[in-house]
Amino acid sequence: MERLREDFVATVSHELRTPLSPIKGWASTLLQVGDTLQPEERRAAIQSILRQSQRLERLIVNLLEMSKIEHGILEAADADVDIGAVVHHVVGDFEKTSPDRAFAVHARGSFCARAKELWVEQIVTNLVSNAVKYSRETEPVEVTIDQLDGRIGIAIRDHGCGIPAHELQRVFERFHRVRETTTQTGTGLGLYIARQLAEEMDGGISVESAPGQGSTFVLDLPAVARVVDVRSAREVIGLEAG
Ligand code: ADP
Repeated sequence: MERLREDFVATVSHELRTPLSPIKGWASTLLQVGDTLQPEERRAAIQSILRQSQRLERLIVNLLEMSKIEHGILEAADADVDIGAVVHHVVGDFEKTSPDRAFAVHARGSFCARAKELWVEQIVTNLVSNAVKYSRETEPVEVTIDQLDGRIGIAIRDHGCGIPAHELQRVFERFHRVRETTTQTGTGLGLYIARQLAEEMDGGISVESAPGQGSTFVLDLPAVARVVDVRSAREVIGLEAG
């Protein structure tokens, strides 16, 4: 346990420090010679600051949430959440900081889940962040929303390195990382937290993947039951007339 704790502190310190170097470096460059940079160079500098700040924010939010999970104090009120709006918001943030990557959101109609908006945002952020991290920049990331039997499914698909079969369940364990991917930064917390939060909302997360074939992670949540207007339904089928 002590060894695990020391490793964790070392990983987290490293993860917290890494984004700070480019943030500080670019900010001081902009301060000193910003006027002499070309507009596209300035834009790239600001994008880098934004991207690294978002990375820091994701890590801090995940750490806070993990601490709440460990202490059994997860709480937030259920509400009707517009899933399309949350997904567009999250994907929009990634589009700003990864302008060379193609993102697509597929959703026919509107989708409303009984859930906690901040948690849905955090889960989708963790899953899209992984899709970006574990696939090449030339590969698109697609998010598809649909509804079946009272459940809403949000599928995040990438065309990256994929996950070997024997690791498919282990990736949801706390701190677990697939050895082949440890050249990427990470803490092994994102999927653990995503699954805990999903289950707290009576939802779940599943994955389909194979090495070299990319991965699809699906978050499913309870849909808000649609209220059917009985009178207008009767009119439509002609009962009123009879
Ligand atoms: P982190 O990305 O910080 O390591 P996660 O808990 O989000 O932590 O993921 C755990 C591990 O699962 C990752 O280290 C990686 O090995 C694997 N993984 C997660 N998402 C993907 C993906 N989309 N493609 C390939 N491997 C993935």
